[in-house]
Amino acid sequence: MLDTLDRYSRHQLLQVIGPTGQEKIRNARVLVAGLGALGSLTSILLARAGVGFLRIVDKDAPELHNLHRQILYDEMDVSRGLSKADAARISLGAMASNVEIEAVNQAIDNTNIESLLDRIDLVVDALDNSQTRFIVNDAIVAKKIPYIFGGAVETVGNVMTIIPGKTPCLRCIWPDPSRVADHSKAATVGVLSSVASLVASVQVTEAFKILVGDISNTIPGILVLDVWKNQFHIVPVEPIPGCSCEEIS
Ligand SMILES: [Zn+2]
Repeated sequence: MLDTLDRYSRHQLLQVIGPTGQEKIRNARVLVAGLGALGSLTSILLARAGVGFLRIVDKDAPELHNLHRQILYDEMDVSRGLSKADAARISLGAMASNVEIEAVNQAIDNTNIESLLDRIDLVVDALDNSQTRFIVNDAIVAKKIPYIFGGAVETVGNVMTIIPGKTPCLRCIWPDPSRVADHSKAATVGVLSSVASLVASVQVTEAFKILVGDISNTIPGILVLDVWKNQFHIVPVEPIPGCSCEEIS
């Protein structure tokens, strides 16, 4: 207990977290969906912050051309051929042995989303395609689980916090997912390492707010930033009448 107090003391000293907030973080169960650049930093920060349970999901393996931004992996992980989920479980376990980590070597789809959300309090989006994001969006809306959308490509990033019953969802921004093209991908246009880490840091901050119960301070809309051009905007998002997220509110 003393060790735990000391370990998290610099968070517990914060007015916005405090010992009560730290206890809520300790009791939380979080799903990190995807273990690329965003999933690397979000899972590191959540584990180090003492989130009690992390379910980490990805089907891919670490690759050399992703190491510049996927900071959870090293050259050894690439050469030994472990999956991202298994490599991440080992690394996160060394950082925070008191955190329960469940590694899932799967792609998220309609067949497993229900079980992946089982007993989960919060979902952090670290996915790399819109099709999977909409599968997650629709499931968390139905189950009323908060979801922190994030994306980064080139020097641009987005973050939006979705709290079913209180805020709009992804379909309120993109009502027709078939028209959301994933043409701007890191593999084709690149991604600046620092914008991915910035987006992930904002996502984790949003996660802390939700876990300690301070949803009044979550981002009121979608954060749109270009770190190279020093542009940071919050664009309001209105719920679309008839959207499934409205029906549950
Ligand atoms: Zn909606």
